[in-house]
Amino acid sequence: MTNRRDFLRTSSLILAGGLMGNQMLHASVADNGKKAIGLQLYSLRDAMKVDVLGTLKQVADMGYTTLEAANYGDGKIYGMTPADFKKAIKDMGMKMTSAHLGGPNYTKETHNQAMDWWKKALEDHLEVGVKFMVKPGMPTLKTLDELKVWCDFYNSIGELTTASKVQFGYHNHSHEFEKTEGEIIYDFMIKNTDPKKVFFEMDVYWVMRGGYKAVDYMNKYPDRFPVLHIKDEKEIGESGQLDFKSIYETAYKNGLKDSFVEVERYNFDPIVSVKKSYDFLNAAPYVK
Ligand code: MG
Repeated sequence: MTNRRDFLRTSSLILAGGLMGNQMLHASVADNGKKAIGLQLYSLRDAMKVDVLGTLKQVADMGYTTLEAANYGDGKIYGMTPADFKKAIKDMGMKMTSAHLGGPNYTKETHNQAMDWWKKALEDHLEVGVKFMVKPGMPTLKTLDELKVWCDFYNSIGELTTASKVQFGYHNHSHEFEKTEGEIIYDFMIKNTDPKKVFFEMDVYWVMRGGYKAVDYMNKYPDRFPVLHIKDEKEIGESGQLDFKSIYETAYKNGLKDSFVEVERYNFDPIVSVKKSYDFLNAAPYVK
C-alpha cells in the first residue's frame, strides 16, 4: 500500500534520478564536445616542481585534454613511473600523447650509447601510450656535413620508434631559420630526414621569430607537420602578431594530429596565462 510519505519519497527519488540523468547526459555531451587543445607542460614548469598532481588537476579543470610532457629522467615522468603518471592523468580525464626528450649529447662515436638511451625512453613512453616523441632542440652546427650527421641520427631514432608505432619529431626554435653554408638549417633538415621516420613539430611562434611564416612552411611541406606548438609572445592571441586562424585552417587541411599550447613568458601568474590561452582557443571558431 502506498501512503503519502512513500509517494513523496518515490517522487523525490524519481526527480533526483531524472536530474542526475540530465546532468550526466549534459556532462558526457560536454566531454565529447571538448576541443582537442593540448598543453606543453613546460608552460607550468615551476608549478610542476612544487605540486605535480595539484597542477595537473588545475590543467584538467581548465579544459585541456591532451598533454605533452617535458620532464623525463631515470625512467620517470615528473618523478612518477610512466604507469602511475598515465593513471593519474587518466583519472583527471586527460592523456599524454607526446613528450619532449633531450637525450644525451650526440656524436657519431657515441651513436650506440645514444640509441640505447632512446630505446629505454621508447619503452617507458610506450607505457604511457604516447603517439609522439619529440627532440626539443639541438646545438647550432658549423657545417652541413655536421648537420647531416644529426639528420641521420634522427632517421635512426625515427626508425626505432616507428617500429613501435610512435612517431619521432623535431621541435624548432628560431636558430633553425639561420643559414649554414647558404642553406636554411630547417629546410636542410626537412630535406635530409625521411618523411616516414621523422616529422617536425613546428613551433609557429619561433618560425615567426626566425623571420618566416608557419603557413608558408605548411604549404611548402604539407606532410611534414602533423603536430604544432601553438605559441605566442606570452599568452596565446595576446600579441596579435600571429594569424592563428590561417595556421589552424592550413594545419587541418594538411591533417593535423595534435597541437600543444606553450606559454613561456607571462603577463600573469603562469596558471592564469595557461588558462587564458585555453579560453582564447576554445572561443575561437576556427579551432576544432
Ligand atoms: Mg615550443
